[in-house]
Amino acid sequence: MRLLMTVLVGLTIGLVSGPTPAEQTYRPSAQSVSDGVYAIVGPLGQRGEANAGLNANYGFIVTSSGVILIDSGASAHSAALLEKAVKEVTPKPIHWVLNTGSQDHRWLGNDYFAKRGAEVHAMANTVKTQKTLFQQQLQGLERFVGQQLKGTVAMQANQVHPTPEKALTIDGVRIQWIETNAHYPGDTMIYLPEVSVVFTGDLVYVDRILGVLPQSNVRKAQAAFQRLVSLNPKHIVPGHGRVTDLAQAKRDTGDYYEYLIANVGVAARNMDSIGETLDKFAKPKQFTLMGRF
Ligand SMILES: [Zn+2]
Repeated sequence: MRLLMTVLVGLTIGLVSGPTPAEQTYRPSAQSVSDGVYAIVGPLGQRGEANAGLNANYGFIVTSSGVILIDSGASAHSAALLEKAVKEVTPKPIHWVLNTGSQDHRWLGNDYFAKRGAEVHAMANTVKTQKTLFQQQLQGLERFVGQQLKGTVAMQANQVHPTPEKALTIDGVRIQWIETNAHYPGDTMIYLPEVSVVFTGDLVYVDRILGVLPQSNVRKAQAAFQRLVSLNPKHIVPGHGRVTDLAQAKRDTGDYYEYLIANVGVAARNMDSIGETLDKFAKPKQFTLMGRF
């Protein structure tokens, strides 16, 4: 009996303890991309307490009166970490938050910034997906980040823009907002023509293999990728991985969309089972070498 108790206590301690020493605590920090434009590049691994669920990329633009933040983090806790990273660059307040997509770490910090006076913008279909997913997302996140989820309120954008494309100017900064529907329905990318930068959201992954989920639409993603190519941006801030250029985005992501369409598309027409097809094609050798989960 005593042995059993010891084992149980041991297990309980194991369950409630925080990040292990091996997991380094991630603190977001900004890197300059172009004049007044910054990226915050998150780690590539899974969500956890050590990274506060910030395993994705973020960005911001410093305008004359404030800051436009691109994606708001996975919780109120992680939103505060992003805010801190912005503060290291500028004392200006975050007046605007733009959501590129509906995955937890792209929008669950909205409420934190709204409470501090920010307008929260998203495109209509992004909001739609956020509304469908948030309950499931909060439950899932709790398993990864536990107590860090405290105080998080799932708040959708209060400034909703029509799809599939919208040109807007925020405090003098021109923005071309384009729907991609790549990773989740209603995913978008944000193009800043004046500085030739695109924040692609989950349309582009570099350094790790692209996530293809049941709800991802490879054909729409490929079409959106072609649109990205036509913009010919100088700098790309991908959804995951380092800040890069069009050539690497094409190698790591664009070519993979084409590969999937060429191979999985044929398999689907031949009525191969989905499981078999994905086993065969989900992680082709030429695209996994940069995987680092
Ligand atoms: Zn993502």
